[in-house]
Amino acid sequence: MNLQKRLQERFLRYAAVSSQSNEGAAVVPSTPGQRELAELLKKDLAELGLVDLEISEYSVLTGRLPANLPEGYHAVPKVGWVTHLDTVNVCLSPEVHPQIIKNYQGGDICLNKEKQIYLTVKEHPEIERYIGDDIIVSDGTSVLGADNKAAISNIMVALETLVNDKNRYHGEIYVAFVPDEEVGLLGSKKMDFSKFPVDFAYTIDCCELGEVVYQTFNAGSAEVYIKGITAHPMSAKGVLVNPALVAVDLVNSFDRMQTPEHTEGLEGFIWVNGIDANVSEAKVSLKIRDHNKKLYEARKQQIRDAVEFLRLRHPKAVIELTMSDTYANIEDAVREDNKKCIDFIYQAMDELGITPKTIAMRGGTDGSFISSKGILTPNYFTGAHNFHSNCEFMPMSAVEKSCLMTLKLVELITK
Ligand SMILES: [Zn+2]
Repeated sequence: MNLQKRLQERFLRYAAVSSQSNEGAAVVPSTPGQRELAELLKKDLAELGLVDLEISEYSVLTGRLPANLPEGYHAVPKVGWVTHLDTVNVCLSPEVHPQIIKNYQGGDICLNKEKQIYLTVKEHPEIERYIGDDIIVSDGTSVLGADNKAAISNIMVALETLVNDKNRYHGEIYVAFVPDEEVGLLGSKKMDFSKFPVDFAYTIDCCELGEVVYQTFNAGSAEVYIKGITAHPMSAKGVLVNPALVAVDLVNSFDRMQTPEHTEGLEGFIWVNGIDANVSEAKVSLKIRDHNKKLYEARKQQIRDAVEFLRLRHPKAVIELTMSDTYANIEDAVREDNKKCIDFIYQAMDELGITPKTIAMRGGTDGSFISSKGILTPNYFTGAHNFHSNCEFMPMSAVEKSCLMTLKLVELITK
């Protein structure tokens, strides 16, 4: 069977398990479908001959493909691949019904006749780059879940290829399938790194052909709790402390131009993403983002200073600040001994004739957390488009190239 067919079959197999994550669930994994998918993958990996297969209490599935190097072969780095089990919840159906458009001939694609849902060339002109391709789409009622099941299929087919072709030498290869990436990288944060003892790793978690990401935000969040003093208006003068207005003072102390809606590229921001207030208390939620570590730390200091000033201005209010780091810029984990892991991506693209598009991601990947733990984990394309939308689509020629990338990386790492 050709590579595209094998990728298609794997994808349909994994897309059939509904594994949408659920923001705000108190547990990891946030939904049972993710564990179900981990169990299915564990079986498939066992069939391929992977060892040390284990699903943790958090549904993190890890395993290892033992090296097949001949005696006397030079030392080869241990490499890992990390993909996520969950698909995003954007208030569409959790069930995915993929359809294959064979030999796409251009023009709009009808995703759902009954509901009149179309993937149009007007809104998504990039689709016409794939005339002649088989394209997988959803039925318009859900995301397709190529994010991240295109990557899961990719790594499974790559492992299958390595196992079935004894002429392909490779060192130790580790895999990790993690839940709940879409709800704050919660799954990778539950990884037991003793089960993933690699020199470096890769994720396959962004969009179109050629995309490479090894710069992500440094990310953190802060919460400011304000307790005021309530009073009846008849005796409020000089007594009442209105927490809603204290919260407004805090928000007004931030630069209104350094927000997500006014920044791009490598510009960071503080995002006021929630204000909750009543007569007695208020809570302001903030997200802090910057590619540059120094500027990121400066933004955190800016919040501390703003809160300090707020306390001086409203001495009778109780104001508490909590702040935590969520993930870090992958690039900050680059060291002399591991930077070849990024070089391999460009070398692989060069050999496969793929033009790289390096992107400073205004967000994070599982690699942003894993890299902060010392395992450099850059990311390359899945080949799919329109993640987090019912217009998500997988052009099979690009998806195939992503799998060829995985195999080429193994080859280059083993050389
Ligand atoms: Zn993803």
